[in-house]
Amino acid sequence: MRIVLLGAPGSGKGTQSQLMVKAYGVPQISTGDLLREAVAKGTELGRRAKAAIDAGTLVDDAIVLGMIRERLDGSDAANGFILDGFPRNLAQAAALAELLSVIGKPLQAVILLNLDLGVLFKRLTGRRICQDCGRVFNVLTAPPGTKPHCEKCGDAPRLIQRPDDREEVIGKRLEVYEAQTTPLIQHYRENGLLRVIDADAPQEVVFASLRQAIADSGG
Ligand code: AMP
Repeated sequence: MRIVLLGAPGSGKGTQSQLMVKAYGVPQISTGDLLREAVAKGTELGRRAKAAIDAGTLVDDAIVLGMIRERLDGSDAANGFILDGFPRNLAQAAALAELLSVIGKPLQAVILLNLDLGVLFKRLTGRRICQDCGRVFNVLTAPPGTKPHCEKCGDAPRLIQRPDDREEVIGKRLEVYEAQTTPLIQHYRENGLLRVIDADAPQEVVFASLRQAIADSGG
């Protein structure tokens, strides 16, 4: 399976990718996660990427493409992958197509998680992450009175907010998505790879649609 999950920040790409990893046994390749890891480790690449991440703008294509090339070369990606957060613009899409055509393994489908802008904003401002295991919570959309409970870390998980989920950065990230990433929708529609699913539903309902879209594309 070789899938791209396309969607605005907050559309659920990360959550759905994790469900796909479990169901299909292929790795999730998230450029956002790889970049945050590099920043946390203080590598040269991380230092170069940090300002753009903090500002909610895109990191240089050259940095991201180098990282993707290396990651796709990993043995665990030999039987497929789920790309999450990549490509983010037309230049990255062209580079990816080139890379995959060289190894004779083209994309099977590009699945767009479609969601309203207002819902996205709420999802992002409410998003909190368990600092110990990485599980994602939402303090705004959880039913009133429910306490965050993490299967791994218990009833009082230590929740943190991603610095770029602060309200002032979210606006910029959504603006960048609109300007640079949405042209990919038309691009992948034209080459016949695009499948669109409604992402404004409980995660298991979205996942069922995702499985159907994968089956429809021959996966
Ligand atoms: P994400 O976790 O996918 O929302 O990504 C967080 C941040 O990492 C983005 O706001 C960008 O600054 C950067 N980033 C992630 N993926 C890419 C990409 N494919 N191209 C450029 N920048 C990226």
